[in-house]
Amino acid sequence: MSVGDGPGRDLDWSRTGAEAGCCRACVHAKLNVTRRATAYVRCLRAAWDERLVRYPALPVLACPGFERSARRTDPT
Ligand code: SF4
Repeated sequence: MSVGDGPGRDLDWSRTGAEAGCCRACVHAKLNVTRRATAYVRCLRAAWDERLVRYPALPVLACPGFERSARRTDPT
């Protein structure tokens, strides 16, 4: 299950068990919530940017592919 930017988004990010860092505010991050209510981040940019990994270890503190999303919460 994937989630958008709705009211439950803060809770869903907390289910990753770590600070999200850059991914929290990045346009390329896709947050997936499992049936067991844990969550993980998939980096969509990793499909074409070989500098990145598909499933980044959180927190991502600096990233060459980061692009801020206008809709997402500032990670700080
Ligand atoms: S580009 Fe970097 S900051 Fe953005 S989702 Fe991928 S790993 Fe996270």
